[in-house]
Amino acid sequence: MYIDFRSDTVTKPSTEMKEAMMAAVVGDDVFGDDPTVNKLQDMAAKLFTKEAALFCPSGTMANQIAIKIHTNSPGELICDELAHVYKYEGGGIGFNSGLATKLLKGNKGRLTAELIGAAINPDDIHFPPTQLVCLENTCNKGGGSIYDFEEIKKINNLCKDKLLKLHLDGARIFNAIVESNYTSQEIGDQFDTISVCLSKGLGAPVGSLLIGSNEDIKKAKRIRKILGGGMRQAGYLAAAGIYALENNINRLKEDHHRAKLLADELCKLKWVKEVFPVYTNILIIEILPHLDVNHVIHTLEKNQIKVAAFGSQQIRFVTHLDVNDEMINRTIEIVKKINF
Ligand SMILES: *Cc1c(COP(=O)(O)O)cnc(C)c1O
Repeated sequence: MYIDFRSDTVTKPSTEMKEAMMAAVVGDDVFGDDPTVNKLQDMAAKLFTKEAALFCPSGTMANQIAIKIHTNSPGELICDELAHVYKYEGGGIGFNSGLATKLLKGNKGRLTAELIGAAINPDDIHFPPTQLVCLENTCNKGGGSIYDFEEIKKINNLCKDKLLKLHLDGARIFNAIVESNYTSQEIGDQFDTISVCLSKGLGAPVGSLLIGSNEDIKKAKRIRKILGGGMRQAGYLAAAGIYALENNINRLKEDHHRAKLLADELCKLKWVKEVFPVYTNILIIEILPHLDVNHVIHTLEKNQIKVAAFGSQQIRFVTHLDVNDEMINRTIEIVKKINF
């Protein structure tokens, strides 16, 4: 039996979640007729004190829709150089929205109002007009780092002042919320739109939400249809999302605790050069410079541990709902016996 740390997307629906899916009352959601999708969207909007939400097939689609509705080409988007919207969405910012992207070097994927303020283009025909700022919380490539609420407020104030839209890639926003002193309602107040993944640590098989004002979500629905994301009896999937929001938010703390336990042991290994700070459920290690990362990953896999490469000498472990204490203990026993 593999212990799969590649991503929190590998979770499979639990028996209870599958029962909720089987029992869903459904309709044609392109007509707005699916009561379960509507219920999920209402729940999500309320959680973030926004007017509306839209169920999307993926986080990538939710982010790309947000970028599209907030901008007009020619224009520019500001994000951290590690941002998922830039790095891992296939060039969608250019492809879908015809925008230039200004990449900033933040701290583990987190920007500051000061950095953003200095990157806004002046009103000059040589420059694409700055239109949108995208933040990511937690930041995947930043090792699951969490934004400080005071900084988010400063960024929001700056965006309001400069008439820029502010989108949150909140794929793992609940990992941030359970570890910090802010609530989903407070997060909702600070952003124009928020995307949230149901299919990561929350354990649903499919789906993300885009959350915002009635006006923005109306526009978003049009773009979702164009992108081919209008789904019919999607209530079967939405039921999993409802189950996830009702049952799987607080338990994210357990994943964070397990990631820390694992980090405490990995840092003792001879072949590990460094273990980066663990903020949430993402653990990144750097292996010694002479080791081949693919060889290390392959060896771990032969020993039933699946992990993901994360840059040249780095390996990522992600803890999630399908990794329990026994698996963490077993992983620790296994890695102690491996030598390179
Ligand atoms: C996973 C992820 C997404 C969306 O991914 P999908 O696989 O398209 O659902 C967006 N942003 C971040 C930070 C992510 O980790």
